[in-house]
Amino acid sequence: MKFSEFATYLEKLEKTSSRNEITQILADLFKKTSQKEIDKVVYLVSGQLAPSYIGIDFNIAEKLMLRIIAKAFGQKLETVADQFKKMGDLGIVAEGYAYGKDGGASVLDVYQTLFEMAGQEGGGSQERKITQTAELLSSLDSLSVRFITRIPTGNLRLGFSDMTILDALSYMETGDKSLRSRIEAAFNVTVDIGKIAKAVKQKGTFVLKDVLPEPGTPIRPSLAERLPSAEKILEKVGSKVIVEPKYDGFRAQVHIYKLKTQNSKLKTEVVIFSRNLENTTNMFPDIVEAVKKIKVGSAIFDGEAIAYDAKSGKFLPFQETAQRKRKYGIPEAIKNLPLKLFIFDILYKDGKNLLPLPFSERRKILESTVFKIDGVEIIRQEVTGDAKVIRDLIQKYLAEGLEGALIKKIDAPYKAGARGYHWVKYKKTTGAGVADTIDCLVMGVNRGKGKRVGFGVGAFLVGVKDGNKFKTTSKIGTGLTDEQWRELDKRSKYLEVSNMPGEYEVDKNLVPDAWTKPSLVVEILADEITVSPIHTAGLALRFPRLINFRNEKNPDQTTTLRELEGLFKMQKI
Ligand code: AMP
Repeated sequence: MKFSEFATYLEKLEKTSSRNEITQILADLFKKTSQKEIDKVVYLVSGQLAPSYIGIDFNIAEKLMLRIIAKAFGQKLETVADQFKKMGDLGIVAEGYAYGKDGGASVLDVYQTLFEMAGQEGGGSQERKITQTAELLSSLDSLSVRFITRIPTGNLRLGFSDMTILDALSYMETGDKSLRSRIEAAFNVTVDIGKIAKAVKQKGTFVLKDVLPEPGTPIRPSLAERLPSAEKILEKVGSKVIVEPKYDGFRAQVHIYKLKTQNSKLKTEVVIFSRNLENTTNMFPDIVEAVKKIKVGSAIFDGEAIAYDAKSGKFLPFQETAQRKRKYGIPEAIKNLPLKLFIFDILYKDGKNLLPLPFSERRKILESTVFKIDGVEIIRQEVTGDAKVIRDLIQKYLAEGLEGALIKKIDAPYKAGARGYHWVKYKKTTGAGVADTIDCLVMGVNRGKGKRVGFGVGAFLVGVKDGNKFKTTSKIGTGLTDEQWRELDKRSKYLEVSNMPGEYEVDKNLVPDAWTKPSLVVEILADEITVSPIHTAGLALRFPRLINFRNEKNPDQTTTLRELEGLFKMQKI
């Protein structure tokens, strides 16, 4: 496929916000691509060159792209920069200068050039990036130029998620959604959407039933539901359940496997993925070293890492553990905030897929795999069918300063990518007021008045996810410390956009001073959820307070409207 043809699809996608239409356009595009191209096309429509967990970074800021555009079309940098100031969109600026002729580059050619550019490192790499990309741009038609300039700068946001791509793959095969759940099941086990697309294109969806976990490729994590009481838990989860403490740190999916080195020796490789499936291995060399001591050929573990005070050995609150999520200053951080990894599940061992096994059996395998190692521990657990014992355990964990408990179904398989009653979380807040904190997206900000002029932001609008949309549930003007207001001001400045993002639904009476693009997630605790005629979610939060900035979450992982409705109903039980 020529890139110019691909660009016409991108244009169609850009013009619509209807999920159905987007699915049809994508299905049509995927149908037309060859087996060789489909994985690349899938990455490129999402503005990437590979799944995000591989972490290919273009390192091209908007400023550098302005230089590239200037060079490609023989313009002065100042002129291009002025245009950008006026238009606010690099793609449109570059398109305006484009020569308009199509040199015939294919999708694969463009992919290859972008790939080489992203890999440029070391002395002179910036100049090489400029030359390479400028050459590419000057050889393409204007529409292609519009989209190519947006990709390396992270501006190709066409408003759909991986889930829409999965739908489109089903439509590609059958013209309807009937294969979606089979495709999603495979995606849950191996989160490389390009690889899945290629397998479907090459061999049809029947190959997907054999998709197995693969060390090095993340598995979508299992998620927990909420229930208001120990009695309800026994009713829903099972007459006997497993109770584990809930540590409030980072989710860590730890992959261990052997790689052949150049001289044919085997080397142990460790990769750690966050709950978002970002590759966080480089941040936690202490965990990497510790888990290398586990005597296993290959394995995938699920666990939670939490920081503790090196002197007292006491576990620290999330805000402290969060300091370990950093790119620089790692050796000092290891000393000041050592981490302990609590492993609570094993998903794969030495070539065997353990996902379908009952939890109790996976636990036995876990216990026969991991023995005493500094910095790593199997999470403690108890089996009970008694509501009082559950309550007592929760009280005990809370008294230890932990976040609460997870109650798990004894015979459940590991439900990759699913939230369900196989896991139920019970936190301090459960049973009183709103049962859980709510992860909201910051959608816009208002400037401060009175005392808060100095902080910049004085109120902000937050919302929850409903399908592809974000619907408002609160305008928050209190419940933040001075420091949190300043932090919010700093962060929101980078996110301000002049028009309301297409995925937002906001009542006209709530339009903020400035919109912020979907990026910043905050954890909110509220006293009550009430019905609201003005918030587009239909529900509002009373007495909201900001608990945390949830850096590890992206907008796709905010609380959903369905979950918020669940919390609302729970209040009434
Ligand atoms: P939440 O983020 O509030 O939905 O709670 C679920 C999270 O709790 C998981 O994503 C894990 O990061 C964390 N967690 C802590 N302890 C456990 C445990 N014993 N089992 C499962 N998840 C746990």
